[in-house]
Amino acid sequence: MAHVRSGRHGWQHQKLRAKTQRLIDAEGGATCWRWAAGEPSPKCARFIPPHTPAAWHLGHAADRVTYAGPECVACNLWDAARVTNGMRSGRTRERVELDW
Ligand SMILES: [Zn+2]
Repeated sequence: MAHVRSGRHGWQHQKLRAKTQRLIDAEGGATCWRWAAGEPSPKCARFIPPHTPAAWHLGHAADRVTYAGPECVACNLWDAARVTNGMRSGRTRERVELDW
């Protein structure tokens, strides 16, 4: 499962992911933070089961820097697409998260 990708996401990201995974496992699952925040994607999985690192990504708040919580893959991709569509001002987007 774990293929380590160089660049892009640093070790801090990896550590945060690992730590969050442990929390999810310990809790017996987690709720997608977007669902909890009331702005889920149309395909939000809502529940993130334990021991399924492929089912979630690290979610980021609107500023795209602050870590918001575990986010289901559907929401993460939806959010990335939304940002792509919404930002046509010539700014380079720095985040596309594909972890599988
Ligand atoms: Zn979601």
